[in-house]
Amino acid sequence: MLSVISVLENRRGPQLQEPSPAVFVPQAQSLCFWQLGIPELHISIAGAGVAGLASAIAVAQNGHSVTVFEQAARLETIGAGLQLGPNAVRVLEGLGVWDALEAQCCAPARIRICDAISGRQLSALELGDSFARRFGSPYRVAHRADLIDALAQTASRNSDITIIKDCRITGLQPGKPTGLKTLSGEIRESDLIIAADGIRSALRTHIAPGNEPRQSGETLYRALAPAGDLPDALDRDAVYLWLAPGAHVVHYLVSGGRQLNIVASIEQPADQTGWNNIASRDNVLDALPGVTSALHELLSTPASWLAWTGADLEPFTAWSRDNCVLVGDAAHASLPYLAQGAAMALEDAACLAACLGGGGDNLKAALARYEKIRQPRTARIVEESRRNAGIYHMRGPKAQARNLALRLLPGSMQMQRLAWIYSPSPNREPSA
Ligand SMILES: Cc1cc2nc3c(=O)[nH]c(=O)nc-3n(C[C@H](O)[C@H](O)[C@H](O)COP(=O)(O)OP(=O)(O)OC[C@H]3O[C@@H](n4cnc5c(N)ncnc54)[C@H](O)[C@@H]3O)c2cc1C
Repeated sequence: MLSVISVLENRRGPQLQEPSPAVFVPQAQSLCFWQLGIPELHISIAGAGVAGLASAIAVAQNGHSVTVFEQAARLETIGAGLQLGPNAVRVLEGLGVWDALEAQCCAPARIRICDAISGRQLSALELGDSFARRFGSPYRVAHRADLIDALAQTASRNSDITIIKDCRITGLQPGKPTGLKTLSGEIRESDLIIAADGIRSALRTHIAPGNEPRQSGETLYRALAPAGDLPDALDRDAVYLWLAPGAHVVHYLVSGGRQLNIVASIEQPADQTGWNNIASRDNVLDALPGVTSALHELLSTPASWLAWTGADLEPFTAWSRDNCVLVGDAAHASLPYLAQGAAMALEDAACLAACLGGGGDNLKAALARYEKIRQPRTARIVEESRRNAGIYHMRGPKAQARNLALRLLPGSMQMQRLAWIYSPSPNREPSA
């Protein structure tokens, strides 16, 4: 979110690629090779999160049949707010999911970056009409459950998609990489396996062994509260980013404006919390002493919080092996400090479907092409998200210098540093 990072570190990331002659079209339905009679695939997907459901819809739109295996008995309602940049909204529009989701989203007018101690606003990044015109789609925020619902509704309307819940995938059939093993001992055969089973993917150990989550040294406390609990002094139409020494807090309204989503990221030894534990209000308040009164009031609102150990995956290559391929957090989990994990999962889905087209004639080449397009972009998201933690959590003179830079740099210049993320054409093939 905070583009000043590159300015402070005087870094210059890769610029947007110009279309190469062999440009990839990001929307799945753009390549309907099934019309040419090339054989369709039966595809198995492990995991019905954002990546799994979006992949199912995208590949089914190209004429493949899909079975999705989800370990949970119900499609998960855990998780809280998600910021959906224009790159995420664009894929949802292309998949036909946006109509079911739009009414549940909120349309923030701006991102306000504030000093958590003084309460002073340091910068504001406008997200209104001119932002949407510039990037071709709007910036929205949603509850993850609403996104999952909209994806599941869209999937349920496609007779080529079957979702099997309460079915945990434990690995692959030994010696036969097209057979998925379930916890009950069944083997499910398919032409292609898409591993969308999240940061702690069981299938990644087959595809890319040795790539385990690395902890970031932060605990992320997440809570939802009624929207009416937002202190009067704060702007209902903003995504807030509060910067504190060793911590930051993000909050915004979700669920059509009915609920308030709050995430506090605090530098803390990871083993205090585990992966998804209940935490108390005091855990959060004690870790954020001396914050400005409006923020203190906000953090005092939720009675309980869920604590999540901050972790990501160090970028790696070789996302596919045999007939299995990784998507979403299973391939490139990032810390949520650019708010792009779900967006990257959606882009993966559209890109993978476009690479596969409607055919199964050269699967290996299609999977290699998908990785070639997606790996550099997602690696940059992982790395810049991690770097943002260092900037957000600065202390002392460094924090003062950061705040000064934020106050002096116009929001429009900061937005320019994010343009590569929101680009209308992220899934272009890198030039050789
Ligand atoms: C605090 C926080 C804030 C965030 N904010 C944003 C944001 O603002 N914007 C954004 O774009 N992203 C955000 N993210 C990131 C985003 O939530 C993730 O990147 C995204 O949900 C990843 O989706 P996924 O489908 O790849 O993985 P997951 O959401 O982890 O889904 C994996 C699915 O697979 C299932 N599964 C796992 N193992 C198995 C198995 N063995 N067999 C069968 N099923 C299995 C799970 O039950 C789950 O349903 C945030 C993350 C956090 C923690």
